[in-house]
Amino acid sequence: MNNTNEIKFLDLASLHVPLRVELDAAYRRVMDAGWFITGAELEAFEQEFAAYSQVQHCIGVANGLDALHLILRAYDIGNGDEVIVPANTFIATWLAVTQAGATPVPVEPDAETYNLDPARVEEKITPRTRAIMAVHLYGQMADMPALREIADRHGLRLIEDAAQAHGARGHGRTAGSVGDAAGFSFYPGKNLGALGDGGAVTTSDAELADKIRLLRNYGSKVKYRHEIAGYNSRLDEMQAAFLRVKLRHLEGWNEQRWTQADYYTRHLASCNRVQSPFVPDWAQPVWHLYVVRTPERDALQAWLADGGIQTQIHYPIPPHLQGAYAGMQICKGSELPISESLHKEVLSLPIGAHITVALQDRIIERVVSWPDC
Ligand SMILES: *Cc1c(COP(=O)(O)O)cnc(C)c1O
Repeated sequence: MNNTNEIKFLDLASLHVPLRVELDAAYRRVMDAGWFITGAELEAFEQEFAAYSQVQHCIGVANGLDALHLILRAYDIGNGDEVIVPANTFIATWLAVTQAGATPVPVEPDAETYNLDPARVEEKITPRTRAIMAVHLYGQMADMPALREIADRHGLRLIEDAAQAHGARGHGRTAGSVGDAAGFSFYPGKNLGALGDGGAVTTSDAELADKIRLLRNYGSKVKYRHEIAGYNSRLDEMQAAFLRVKLRHLEGWNEQRWTQADYYTRHLASCNRVQSPFVPDWAQPVWHLYVVRTPERDALQAWLADGGIQTQIHYPIPPHLQGAYAGMQICKGSELPISESLHKEVLSLPIGAHITVALQDRIIERVVSWPDC
């Protein structure tokens, strides 16, 4: 296959072409100000992203993992504590918990939405449980009202891992505004991505927001006075300035993804052995990923690769089977059969601003001509 003809899974260079003038101006503004850490750009971005996410406070941090980790630290969740997490998620959800010194307790997903199954959460709650960390996987919100009810009944914090869900809605509410606090990632490939690493915490809890502001900046509010032992985890001025530009385009990009996802789902319906994503009627996902499922996943991936179409797997190995957790007695595998079968069967198709209708037609044609389809 001719490489110039290959359809890329992700193409950030082409995403940024129409933004070049705005991004160049943002860069120059920061250079001319000569101020690079915790300044006017960060403050402005925090206000703009808080408004977008419909919360009172946004605190920019270095990345999505730190956002989740700092939320746990701010709640004093650590040694001896347990946090409910999805069994099927990117490992950062679990790493936030283990970095804080707490134990992740995995719960199997709903077999249709692949999100945390509220019906399975309650049986995992023990006297040590302090929080539920829900992930809005692939950009579709978890069933937050059901999780809220369980969290309230047991006196637990409800935390959102919204790293894949900027602007997603569920039951009429925006991702990042439903839990006690939420962690966002601005990793370049996310729906809202910086030109480097970045992250944020959103919350409407003023006390929590203050604590996170301290924690991200060496435990210091006034320079060289350190009230608590903090971290260095700040969203720098350059990234904040770039994110302000890209935030203005987020709704448009999310709408385009919605259209593309709808187009995929309609045109792949004839393929009996390739299952499209399920969307409950209360959810408006932002389609960070468009993930199909088929028992012959590896064969489909190879078939698409032969047709010059890049795909990815989110994720090939569940956290509990990673080397990182080999020493932890979380579970020995086979206790999480839904999650383990998902990891063998999911495949992410290209989606986003670089996928024109013509390219999407080429992808669909290739999938429906798959002999196993
Ligand atoms: C990307 C991601 C993170 C971590 O974000 P980083 O900015 O890369 O640290 C956490 N959780 C989920 C679900 C993610 O997709």
